[in-house]
Amino acid sequence: MADKASILKLTDVKYRWPGQTSFGISIPAFDLKVGETVLLLGESGSGKSTLLSLICGTVSADRGAISVSGTDIASLSAGQRDRFRAEQIGLIFQQFNLLPYASVLDNILLPLQFSPDRRKRVASVKEEAETLCQNLGLPDNVMNVRAGTLSVGQQQRVAAARALIGTPPLLIADEPTSALDAATQKTFLQLLFAQSRAHNTTLLMVSHDARLADQFDRVVQMSDITKTERENT
Ligand code: ADP
Ligand code: MG
Repeated sequence: MADKASILKLTDVKYRWPGQTSFGISIPAFDLKVGETVLLLGESGSGKSTLLSLICGTVSADRGAISVSGTDIASLSAGQRDRFRAEQIGLIFQQFNLLPYASVLDNILLPLQFSPDRRKRVASVKEEAETLCQNLGLPDNVMNVRAGTLSVGQQQRVAAARALIGTPPLLIADEPTSALDAATQKTFLQLLFAQSRAHNTTLLMVSHDARLADQFDRVVQMSDITKTERENT
């Protein structure tokens, strides 16, 4: 069988935060295949979130190339990159990053505002948002509620609905379950896997919890894909 196509490809990427002398990240090669679910494990401070920012194009690599769905993100202007990110990537953060005073519905629809192409993939915006909320076990009447008034577990589900709407081909989650209790964590993960299976969505999830490993197609250790400082220089 031919190799599955890559949705993400990093080649010889190097990055250092401005002003940070003690930490630099260097990734010779890292690939994700279409539809696979990958757990990225690593100690706190090992650069997991930095790597996700590089993939999302919110920070630009000092060297090397990062391509998403075959597009070299460095070839895009800042505005193009914002639209491209909204079209291609569903993002779930540890801290949810919801707009607390906006309604649940407005929070969920946010990525569609940034990407007309992602908006086009949704037949009926309100219906899809409602279906997602139902699948995520949110109460029926939650749409017009201010996001900031929901429980932590509910807010994380809204963040998931926002990431999933318009079925972006790549789902990136940065320690999305760390604020959730065990039961909520389990249903939350099941939903992400269901989405991956239903839409052949690639899932890259960061965690420091190795117990999640057997649920994923593949586990990647940060220490296996990064070169250390010393080797770097
Ligand atoms: P992890 O997510 O694995 O805990 P991070 O990528 O957040 O690791 O952090 C890796 C290193 O980068 C740390 O030394 C951290 O202090 C530094 N770092 C992270 N974000 C920033 C930032 N916005 N500005 C400067 N340094 C940062
Ligand atoms: Mg982090």
